[in-house]
Amino acid sequence: MARLTFHGAAQTVTGSKYLVEVDGARVLVDCGLFQGLKELRLRNWAPFPVSPQSIDAVVLTHAHIDHIGYLPRLVRDGFRGPVFATPATESLAELLLLDSAHNQEEEAAYANRKGYSKHKPALPLYDTGDAKRALRRFRSVHRDEWFHPAAPLRARYHDTGHLLGSCMVEIEWGQGDSQRRIVFSGDVGRYGAPLYHDPQPPPACDYLVCESTYGNREHPDVDILDQLCDVVQKSIRRGGVMLMASFAVGRAQQLIYLLQVLMDDGRIPNIPIVLDSPMAASGMEIYRYYASEHDLSEGLTVRPDFQFSFDRVRITRNVAESKAVNKMMGPGVIISSSGMMTGGRILHHLRQRLPDERNTIVLGGFMAAGTRGRALQEGAPTIRMFGSDVPVRAAVVEVSSLSAHAGHSELLRWLAPLPPPRRVFLTHGELSSSMALAEELHRTRGWDTLVPEHRQFVDLDADPEPER
Ligand SMILES: [Zn+2]
Repeated sequence: MARLTFHGAAQTVTGSKYLVEVDGARVLVDCGLFQGLKELRLRNWAPFPVSPQSIDAVVLTHAHIDHIGYLPRLVRDGFRGPVFATPATESLAELLLLDSAHNQEEEAAYANRKGYSKHKPALPLYDTGDAKRALRRFRSVHRDEWFHPAAPLRARYHDTGHLLGSCMVEIEWGQGDSQRRIVFSGDVGRYGAPLYHDPQPPPACDYLVCESTYGNREHPDVDILDQLCDVVQKSIRRGGVMLMASFAVGRAQQLIYLLQVLMDDGRIPNIPIVLDSPMAASGMEIYRYYASEHDLSEGLTVRPDFQFSFDRVRITRNVAESKAVNKMMGPGVIISSSGMMTGGRILHHLRQRLPDERNTIVLGGFMAAGTRGRALQEGAPTIRMFGSDVPVRAAVVEVSSLSAHAGHSELLRWLAPLPPPRRVFLTHGELSSSMALAEELHRTRGWDTLVPEHRQFVDLDADPEPER
């Protein structure tokens, strides 16, 4: 018996969790937190449909919270197996899970202080202790090496160029004619993106679970440096500060790298950059430690002697320093988390900066439905936070070339060399996006595609071999 169940990221972009069951073995691929709409976030609080004790192992594709952020809760509820990840993913996960636990604790404490939660007392989904217990279960595996999450399954990672350490994972079982292979794309990165290598092509497989965040949307065909340069110059002319939402790792480092290139090339003046995130200093260390994994060669006019450094960045190390950022006058850049403005210190900056028309709020990635980031993207006149409505007078600018996700044609380029699988499941996209890609792959390549529903399961030995 081989079965795949979609416990998250089905017709939505968060909560990635795919359960693979083969001959009694149970492996969960990704263990993400649901974010955004309340009906999605409530799923984080429902008991996991499969007993966590009965899961043999977790295999993580990369460290973004929508792929790992449920792990402390799974461990709290009884999961005791190993968690496989690349070394860089493990390092980032340590940072991000502790950050996430801290945010959960802060939000619960704030709600209790202000009394605006319906729950008395408001409790965190998990705490720092749960995150630490989850981190002790990690086992590092390198890309391109087979590992064994649970017999009879063997697995192997390949680079997807989406985040430091990010991977797709192929999982295989059986021998000869009964051998089957399923590939989980994780999040597919961009071609020619600063800092990251191009995604490797997917290995031939019987089944593919493919992300479809931008299944029906293109990124504009613009040079990322030109676009960013333009946004910074406009922000300077407005006279305020530029506020950018990002997790402590990932886009923050990419943005700092690009700003540094623009300053070195004299295209923008030397303006202060503040990275205000409790974990940012450690995030910088991780990026320095894994410097050999960066690709600094593409898409940029980088001189051969370019050094990846963060010397021009001011990192806040405590609440007092963070509060001092409130006094910062323009021009300048503030980078703060969380990425979709669902929590974290960015909220305090938004509350202060949104009502002033001189400021610029930069949206640099996918904003899930129901997040404050999406509301800003859609031009909301006010944003609700800390129990009140804050007016939006600042300029809101999208820099979509900063997205870490493959756009529509990049997904097609990534899929181009793949021989037809028996079946392809489109996940990690909003319904219209996943459906559009499913229909296109069916129409143009004759693939058997499905956009699964939440908690839908499929038997993996029922499908006939496609004609190749
Ligand atoms: Zn991701």
